[in-house]
Amino acid sequence: MTLKSRNAIVTGSTSGIGLAIARAFAAKGANVVINGLGDADAIEKERASIAKDFGVTSLYSPANMMKPGEIENMVHEAEAKLGSVDLLINNAGIQFVSPIEDFPIDKWDAIISINLTAAFHTIRAAFPGMKKRKWGRIINTASAHSKVASPYKAAYVSAKHGLDGLTKTAALEGATFGITVNCVSPGYVWTPLVEHQIPDTMAARHMTKEEVISNVLLAAQPTKQFVTVDQVAALCVFLASDAAAQITGANISIDGGWTAE
Ligand code: NAD
Repeated sequence: MTLKSRNAIVTGSTSGIGLAIARAFAAKGANVVINGLGDADAIEKERASIAKDFGVTSLYSPANMMKPGEIENMVHEAEAKLGSVDLLINNAGIQFVSPIEDFPIDKWDAIISINLTAAFHTIRAAFPGMKKRKWGRIINTASAHSKVASPYKAAYVSAKHGLDGLTKTAALEGATFGITVNCVSPGYVWTPLVEHQIPDTMAARHMTKEEVISNVLLAAQPTKQFVTVDQVAALCVFLASDAAAQITGANISIDGGWTAE
């Protein structure tokens, strides 16, 4: 399977799952636009290593996923520089853990913007080109929390359930244009996002770090193992292949059995 001559945007790909997805697409020959926040030198190193390791064009967009104008520019700049956007991975996301009555309003707004609304803006900007070329693959990194809830994650669970709804709607609108739109829904993947929520969960649930890992995180996952970023990336590569052309509007779990319970 090759993705040569395909161009990809992966939002939130300076770290974690998104970086693994960007590298997996580049390994199959796709040119990639990486995006996200972080240290400029570290990001440039990642960008350059993707280009060097896989012999593809690799660009960086600093677009903030909370800013609709920057999101739209990212898509239009990618189309101008690469010729098209064929693969769009809406992966940027943040988390915040708190009881609803204490949930900071700015955190609610930021989570809904980055984890849900940004995907509406990227799809809005990328759809016309994909429809014209009659080919597109849109993959939204949702979560087990797009299917089930956990306490203290009101904004995240709401955003991810919303992303599932956006996925289904976009799938129906893209169906006759050769565009598939799907969610991948990981359980707990060991990335900075998970690592950083441990202190808040310790505080919210009055637990030690070890108790959070075994009683909260891996308690939900029957396999008792974290999902790896490479496993999520491999699923995205499959969804981008011709073999997956009839998979659209799906929300595919990769969660060690979490949502089977
Ligand atoms: P991460 O923190 O390693 O990466 C998040 C990425 O989003 C980073 O590149 C960050 O710079 C970027 N980002 C954050 N705010 C941004 C903004 N305003 N504008 C642009 N980029 C921004 O986290 P991760 O675990 O790799 O998460 C990636 C996605 O996977 C998220 O949508 C997350 O909800 C989802 N997810 C993660 C897990 C998990 O266990 N790690 C499980 C299910 C779903």
